[in-house]
Amino acid sequence: MLDQNTTAQLKTLLERLEGPIELVATIDASDKSAKIKELVEEIAALSDLVTARFDGTNKRTPSFGVAKAGEQPRVFFAGLPMGHEFTSLILALLQTSGYAPKVSAEVLESIKGLGIKSDFDVFVSLSCHNCPDVVQALNLIAIYNPGTTATMIDGAFFQEEVEERKIMAVPMVFQDNEHIGQGRMTLEEIIAKLDTDSAAKDAEKLNAKEAFDVLIVGGGPAGNTSAIYAARKGIRTGIVAERMGGQVMDTMDIENFTSVQKTQGPKFAAEMEAHVREYGVDIMNLQRVSDIKGADETENGLVEVTLENGAKLESKTVILSTGARWREMNVPGEQEYKTRGVAYCPHCDGPLFKGKRVAVIGGGNSGVEAAIDLAGIVEHV
Ligand SMILES: Cc1cc2nc3c(=O)[nH]c(=O)nc-3n(C[C@H](O)[C@H](O)[C@H](O)COP(=O)(O)OP(=O)(O)OC[C@H]3O[C@@H](n4cnc5c(N)ncnc54)[C@H](O)[C@@H]3O)c2cc1C
Repeated sequence: MLDQNTTAQLKTLLERLEGPIELVATIDASDKSAKIKELVEEIAALSDLVTARFDGTNKRTPSFGVAKAGEQPRVFFAGLPMGHEFTSLILALLQTSGYAPKVSAEVLESIKGLGIKSDFDVFVSLSCHNCPDVVQALNLIAIYNPGTTATMIDGAFFQEEVEERKIMAVPMVFQDNEHIGQGRMTLEEIIAKLDTDSAAKDAEKLNAKEAFDVLIVGGGPAGNTSAIYAARKGIRTGIVAERMGGQVMDTMDIENFTSVQKTQGPKFAAEMEAHVREYGVDIMNLQRVSDIKGADETENGLVEVTLENGAKLESKTVILSTGARWREMNVPGEQEYKTRGVAYCPHCDGPLFKGKRVAVIGGGNSGVEAAIDLAGIVEHV
């Protein structure tokens, strides 16, 4: 299953295990089960701290769970976590053993503070680059919340379930069988969704902030660049953004950023944010601006920015860098069928349309690229 190079890499990574873990597989006589068995055996052979057994009673067959020795598994893989999900597998093995995740102390506290007992299912395709973040976030939540499980389900492995649940976009997340979201989501976004008090807590903190000299609405390349420019002048600068990184979070390869021959969207976004933080800019992520009152409309002569959670921020000046979002066609059915047949990411969601007749709307570069990519998967474009 694993080539020589990957085996060597995995063996080295498993040296970081903090304690013994167990892989618990649930299999039958099918070919898919044979592949899961092979992968599990190969991993177990790479470290004395990993054991495997094949008498599991996981909800899905075939699948395997990852458990701290002596505990029940809370992180499950229903399918082969290869392709983009291989990192999710490595992190699940290490973090289950006690290896500290690379998140801030504040985020880790929020995860532990969720205090939930839920079963999360996330449907993925192995070609989806937006899926691993969601899988890894839910795995981490399961690892730090006893009583919670997280299962990555490869749609190609469980096609009947995909049809039954009408899944036409990945990643798609269910909490205790209730649909709670789809598409790219960061760990922070998922925590905010699960923490029912988070909006009120955030509003209280935001209301207490002093007025800014420059407040930037939008955390994409434009907003981050504005923030660096302003903060370097030594003035009090803040960014308020619905999603830090903006559109670049939705792409992988970027090859036209002068002086950087090739980078990846999420990496570029993380580096932009780190750059902005160097200048002490106050970043208020996952906050949507719903209203702005100009300086001439307020009593104190400051611009007033209202957020969706009700909080109000004040600033001498405001820069709007709210970028762009998927263009909608405004045709009947578009909203109802979003993620149930209307999709926006051909190479994430394409595999779910295997054997189907598909129409690509749009005839620019992206439309043509989507049609070419889909032609290799679907019945007819
Ligand atoms: C799939 C894809 C691939 C791409 N590939 C490339 C490439 O290879 N090279 C290239 O040069 N460009 C590429 N682009 C285009 C590039 O990503 C955009 O030009 C760039 O991100 C625009 O930056 P921006 O800061 O103006 O806006 P955006 O990136 O759109 O950011 C807008 C910001 O505003 C926030 N926002 C919006 N409304 C609100 C609100 N009401 N309240 C709070 N915040 C709000 C958003 O959350 C986001 O943080 C690609 C785009 C996509 C979608």
